[in-house]
Amino acid sequence: MSKIGHRLEPKTRPPEIRKKDFEEVELTVSPEEAMKEASRDIKFCAAPCSVRGCPVSVNVPGFLKKVSEGDFKEAYKILIQNTPVPSITGRVCQQEIQCEGQCVLRRVGEPIAIGAVERFVGDWALDNNIEIPVTAEKKHKKVAVVGSGPSGIVAAADLARMGYDVTMYEAFHIPGGVLAYGIPEFRLPKRILRKEFERLQNMGVDIELGVVVGTTYTIPELLKDYNAVFLGVGAGRPMFLNIPGENLAGIYTANEFLTRVNLMKAYMFPEYDTPIHVGKKVAVIGAGNTAMDAARSALRLGADVYVIYRRGRNEVSARAVEFKHAEEEGVKFIFWAAPAEFQSNDGVNVSNIKLMKMKPGEPDRSGRPRPVPTGETFDFDTDMVITAIGFYPNPLIPQMTPDLKVDDHGRVVVDIEGRTSIPHVYAGGDIVTGESTVIEAMGWGRRVARTIDKDLQKI
Ligand code: FAD
Ligand code: SF4
Repeated sequence: MSKIGHRLEPKTRPPEIRKKDFEEVELTVSPEEAMKEASRDIKFCAAPCSVRGCPVSVNVPGFLKKVSEGDFKEAYKILIQNTPVPSITGRVCQQEIQCEGQCVLRRVGEPIAIGAVERFVGDWALDNNIEIPVTAEKKHKKVAVVGSGPSGIVAAADLARMGYDVTMYEAFHIPGGVLAYGIPEFRLPKRILRKEFERLQNMGVDIELGVVVGTTYTIPELLKDYNAVFLGVGAGRPMFLNIPGENLAGIYTANEFLTRVNLMKAYMFPEYDTPIHVGKKVAVIGAGNTAMDAARSALRLGADVYVIYRRGRNEVSARAVEFKHAEEEGVKFIFWAAPAEFQSNDGVNVSNIKLMKMKPGEPDRSGRPRPVPTGETFDFDTDMVITAIGFYPNPLIPQMTPDLKVDDHGRVVVDIEGRTSIPHVYAGGDIVTGESTVIEAMGWGRRVARTIDKDLQKI
């Protein structure tokens, strides 16, 4: 073994057991494991490498040092300066291309398992009821945060910590955005989200659920009551393939499928009200995080699941660990194939997909080989299809707010600090960038909270 030791691999429940339930797959590491991992030749960690890789610049060497000393409370204090929800970011960040991707130990061995240690600290703080202190004097100014996803969570937490009166408005009956309606229980248990929102409320944030801004209240109406409005309404409108047969019964978008499973606990029908139809042989189209979540949820509901992807294994865009877990659990993959047409035996229900064989072409803007149709097709029989090919920004608020400038892709246009075309209205996260990541959206929440503070100091 090299002198920097082997990386800690968190324990997972055995695939043959976990694929039958919705309990969490990966287990939180023990205090001893976290301390050992954080101590792996700590002198290498003086460089700000992993800080650079983190979109919210978590002080990685700082919190790891405290963990290595067994001072979890101090580690937590360091972490929450940049991520108010380490138990969530530790679970869902794409660490392999973010913090761990820049870890200097990668050059001489294996990177530190930053996500696993961060998750441990976050869970430890939740279990020990460590609250986030609000010490700033009250500013006596009000901010409305629209959307309770990652960008809204961070904007609300930061503004509350600065002393603002914050009200969060959320269209759904459960807060959390994609963290609640998209990411399944087996990756991010709802009890963690619930605790994080309790903590947000303890910081003074008022959360109003079931309020659709744009219809229940318009932006001009909110501006009468609030000094500033932050829009963190995400990108939840599914893209369609626009091919023949897409309207057949048995074809769902991943959004619809996952929302039923996650928010309405359809997987517990008849204990919960929402029924869900799951086919015997399910085809999931796409290979991002959403596709993996849909595939693994369908698998848990008893289906034989195939992920169909127009590119190859090396181009799968889901987190590496989710791809690995999906394969371990028995999800099958068909690479270099794209749907050309959905077909039906009875004229109502989907029964077959005509798949076009693809081949790798020249690299595209992402640097990955462009999938090129070969002209050759083959049949894939199926009784359910879930499409997971991407999302557009949510259109309601832009449609109902003519002065709000959006670009050709429906993204709200902001300056570098998050100001929109309407004075005192700010935006961040997926509604500005298009579909991105949890931590990128959180980075926006932080940036815009600072801008709001800067602007409100002037009035
Ligand atoms: P969202 O999380 O979309 O939250 C927006 C919120 O605004 C929603 O709750 C919505 O209901 C609410 N809203 C919308 N319109 C209104 C309105 N008019 N009034 C009131 N409320 C409104 N990223 C990762 O980093 N790691 C992952 O593992 C990962 N997995 C994913 C899995 C799935 C299934 C999906 C769909 C995405 C995943 N992502 C992942 C991407 C990541 O979740 C998003 O980039 C992130 O959630 C965006 O945060 P946001 O705050 O901008 O918006
Ligand atoms: Fe890594 Fe995410 Fe933590 Fe940043 S917030 S250090 S990217 S796990």
